[in-house]
Amino acid sequence: MLRKKILLFLAAGSVLAAAVWFAYVNTSSSKPVEGQTFSMGTIITQRLYGSNAKKAIEEANIKIKEIENKMTINNSGGLINKLNDMSAEHNGEWNVLDNETVYVLEKAKKYSELSGGAFDVTVGPLVKAWGIISGNPRIPPADEINRLLKLVDYKSISIQGSSAKLILPGQIADLGGIAKGYAGDAVLDIYRKNGIKSAFVNLGGNVVALGKKPDGSTWKIGIQNPRAENGKYLGIVSVSDKAVVSSGDYERFFERDGKRYHHILDPKTGYPADSGLIATTIVCGLSVDADALSTASFVLGLERGMKLVESIGEVEAIFITKDKKLYTTKGLKDIFTFSDESKEFEYVEKR
Ligand code: ADP
Ligand code: MG
Repeated sequence: MLRKKILLFLAAGSVLAAAVWFAYVNTSSSKPVEGQTFSMGTIITQRLYGSNAKKAIEEANIKIKEIENKMTINNSGGLINKLNDMSAEHNGEWNVLDNETVYVLEKAKKYSELSGGAFDVTVGPLVKAWGIISGNPRIPPADEINRLLKLVDYKSISIQGSSAKLILPGQIADLGGIAKGYAGDAVLDIYRKNGIKSAFVNLGGNVVALGKKPDGSTWKIGIQNPRAENGKYLGIVSVSDKAVVSSGDYERFFERDGKRYHHILDPKTGYPADSGLIATTIVCGLSVDADALSTASFVLGLERGMKLVESIGEVEAIFITKDKKLYTTKGLKDIFTFSDESKEFEYVEKR
């Protein structure tokens, strides 16, 4: 009898031990929880370690949808479209937005100023006319482009408290070059609130890494080869607590008569930017900043893009030119490893 009791006790003990072990393995370290969804026009991948991982992924998915609904110009009814509709109808009236939308709008205006209008948050009328994002791509006639260029001017956006207005009737604020970046930061906030210490999210080339991996190693982020299929890399950036955000002419484009027309427009010409760069990557602390800067530097080109990036503290960059050369800022020297399977690209000395 006693022997039986001891055996039972041992069995119960080992079940308990197994349960504790299982919970430990399942929650704290070795196995990440992964999530994949489609939002903001792109595939979003999340990988999280920690006991609240599943809950955090679900909350993040809801948050991303909410940001998309508020900030896209492709659906009517969102906050940014309220501002745009108002500009078309009731010129001069203030629109009450919410804190988040105003924060992103302010960031967008700041980077419009810093880049001298290479990034321009009021590029919306041109974006619509080209139709690359909305799925009706066309080459607008030159007179249409010239007419719409008059509406592109970030200086005519005014922000006061949580309200904003556009000065010219028909102007359209477009947060397409920055909203995914903001979503990356918002997702990390959700991770932190759920006690997650180790995670990454990839919103279609907009990667944000939280902490390090549980084994103490850094996150390894592949830099897409802009002239190869998705998943072929030109190297790896090793980071913790950083955003790694890329822009390029390979992400969204259409071709006519052998010419590529992509989705990053030069607000000075009204046509897809043709600065000599085919891809840019920005590495910095906040994904919203990295997103605006990757688009801005793509339009500015190698020299002026480098200058902009170097004028801001704690921002690193990788620029890839049409002639297949890679340039990086000095600060990337130790965290970027060049590795080009295609053997077509050349890693030019760091600047
Ligand atoms: P992706 O959305 O592919 O990550 P970007 O962050 O570079 O790429 O943003 C491109 C989007 O930004 C376009 O789809 C458009 O909505 C908007 N956009 C295009 N040109 C500009 C520009 N010069 N300044 C600001 N936004 C732009
Ligand atoms: Mg961008």
